[in-house]
Amino acid sequence: MSYQALYRKYRPSTLKDVIGQDVVIKILENAVKNNKIGHAYLFSGPRGIGKTTIAKALAKTANCLEPINGDSCEKCNNCNSINSGFCPDIIEIDAASNNGVDEIREIKNKISLVPNELKYKVYIIDEVHMLSIGAFNALLKTLEEPPEHVIFILATTDPQKVPSTIISRCQCYEFHRISNKDIVERLKYICKEENIKIDDEVLDRIATLSDGGMRDSIGMLDKLTAYSNSNITLDDFEKVNGIVSVVEKEKFIDNIHNNNVLEIIKFIDNIYDNGKDLIIFTQDLLKICKDKCVNYYVNNTDDDIEFLLSLSNLLNNILKDIKTSPNVKTILEINILSFLNIARNNNTQSVVKKEKNDLPKISEQPIANETIVENNTVEDDNAEESIDFKTIINNCFARANKQEKQMFESKWNLINDYTFDSKYGAAASFVADGTIRVVGEGEVLISFDYESMVNRGINLLELIQNLFEKIYGRTYDIAFITTDEWNKVKTEFINNKNNGIKYEYIPIERKKKAQKAKIDKNNAVASEAIELFGDNVVLV
Ligand SMILES: [Zn+2]
Repeated sequence: MSYQALYRKYRPSTLKDVIGQDVVIKILENAVKNNKIGHAYLFSGPRGIGKTTIAKALAKTANCLEPINGDSCEKCNNCNSINSGFCPDIIEIDAASNNGVDEIREIKNKISLVPNELKYKVYIIDEVHMLSIGAFNALLKTLEEPPEHVIFILATTDPQKVPSTIISRCQCYEFHRISNKDIVERLKYICKEENIKIDDEVLDRIATLSDGGMRDSIGMLDKLTAYSNSNITLDDFEKVNGIVSVVEKEKFIDNIHNNNVLEIIKFIDNIYDNGKDLIIFTQDLLKICKDKCVNYYVNNTDDDIEFLLSLSNLLNNILKDIKTSPNVKTILEINILSFLNIARNNNTQSVVKKEKNDLPKISEQPIANETIVENNTVEDDNAEESIDFKTIINNCFARANKQEKQMFESKWNLINDYTFDSKYGAAASFVADGTIRVVGEGEVLISFDYESMVNRGINLLELIQNLFEKIYGRTYDIAFITTDEWNKVKTEFINNKNNGIKYEYIPIERKKKAQKAKIDKNNAVASEAIELFGDNVVLV
């Protein structure tokens, strides 16, 4: 038998097996028990937390011939037919894959026909917010007076985009992110069933990284089992997800404390070359600092609290900066060097000790000759870089080409060959999760479900670009975008097209965008930076 992804294998089949959505489940079970099943439901909430799973379970229990406590019996003919996946009365429509006018029209035409086998015909429309206006209007008509034998279950990650006329005709349920505790419990169960040996702390880390999404957590577990046949350790988890180990991170913080510039720069280079995620790295550093601060106040540890608070502040600012810039590595380096520089000056010049609420914030540092990079330069360059991303998206639409896209997609699987490559592994396993949206004549637009993934993509941009060069034999301008943003730009594109507005190709200048950083060569930190990078490399 072919391998079945763990997520599919452990997808709950009944309402009572669904984890982490207790309130909604209770209400639905009661509705079935009391014979008060509605004709239109709207399930909203983030992806991967059980909306369509519950929709299917509800479709089943509503049709079950002998429901048990409001849940499906899993034995009767109706349950069996639905579980087979071939029941003609359960109709699933993915509004994300088309804009649905034809499907909805089809519903309108067939809605009055009685079900083939079941009591209720159930229409499950996933990502309903993506229906076109025409499809919404058609749907509205059918929702106004649905026949007794029909149930609509609409699911969406973005209820704001569903017209209020639709919402007002539905029973609405909001689904929440699943708690780490619930996710860990489920993962433990799966590991036991599958005989997977894994350290407990890895399960905690999976739950945290998947941000309340059960599907993503189980997907991560699947990836880890493919990576390691024996006991899965934190080390495996960190390798597969491009995460730096805790020991290394603590050492990194010590190095900042001790002003070991050379070690710090080498380390950042090293983790970058190994495809580690610098954003997660920075987030983790902040968390370690925060924990140490709390420990200082609660347990009276002898940590240098001034330093920890300053560093936390710095890391927080770095995180704000890097989220809007594709040049994560440089921002991290420059900010940390700048921080060290200030620390050194403070030590050597006996500068009056700063108050806690006057901690050095990079963005507020005066531009003086001891500051390595002028602040304005950093910000201007960021703006320039982000315009470039927009330019790439524009160019994707301007030169969108079906044949190019087909060619691109036909080789997409080759990415899997690099999943365990020492250099491209992290980039390959990451980008494989993206969805190719548009391919132009030298540019490609890829979407991810979460902003954190887009940030990760930006972080790995260079490696991904090199990986594509290996696979496709040419250089691509790559832009990443969240699924939500994709829906926006796509709609905009369609509207513009309908209004006769064309997208013009904008050539991207490949000149170095940044100005040379201003370096005071008498300055100790700056000199070390020059030593490390060469004279012209402290660029943003
Ligand atoms: Zn049944």
